[in-house]
Amino acid sequence: MKRYEENFDKILQRIEKARIEVNEYNIVNIIAVSKYSSAYDIKDLYNIGQRAFGENKVQDLKLKALDLEDLPIQWHFIGRLQKNKINALLDLSPTLIQSCDSLELAKEINKRAKIKNISIDILLQVNSAKEENKAGVYPEYAIETYLNIQENCSFVNLKGIMSIGAHTDDKKEIQKSFEKTYYIFEKLKQNGAKYCSMGMSSDFEIAVKCGSNMLRLGSVIFK
Ligand SMILES: *Cc1c(COP(=O)(O)O)cnc(C)c1O
Repeated sequence: MKRYEENFDKILQRIEKARIEVNEYNIVNIIAVSKYSSAYDIKDLYNIGQRAFGENKVQDLKLKALDLEDLPIQWHFIGRLQKNKINALLDLSPTLIQSCDSLELAKEINKRAKIKNISIDILLQVNSAKEENKAGVYPEYAIETYLNIQENCSFVNLKGIMSIGAHTDDKKEIQKSFEKTYYIFEKLKQNGAKYCSMGMSSDFEIAVKCGSNMLRLGSVIFK
């Protein structure tokens, strides 16, 4: 048995169980969040089949991507993105920037992508639980902001939304925040939204039951 294999199998089984309870046909993507893990750990997980990894700092992504440049890893950016780091991030050709949290940031990304003549896939981050210390647009502005970005930013492709579940032990509250996110996602499907990225180590089963099709799992995988 390779390192992480047994643990990863258990996680896959838990996801399957939650998934089949609600919708047999929903494909759930797993992003392995490697922000607390080394390139060595990433390689071990890669060797059991995982391809998508998430980082929350541009500098860390850069170092790990360089270390692992021989492997066809799909990098997802999931952290707060400062404007002065956008160019560095775009140069790393991430698969998906999940944490675009405002129209303003989308415009900045668009401006730089335009100069580089590339297009970049992004998700709009929604602060569904309306927590002050969390990034993202409030749910009541999410659709308007999404459409605004689509209209004004032709070098970014919006692929859906991302949200972090309510920060509480109360499962009902967490579920409510996921339901709110999913409701927005459903409305945006007609505008091309494909991914509803929600669910982390402590709440991914609830997220899957609420319709998530992209989980961002860190500590539960790399423990
Ligand atoms: C760290 C992080 C995760 C993963 O967190 P875990 O609880 O370790 O699974 C997911 N999403 C975002 C935005 C993060 O910053």
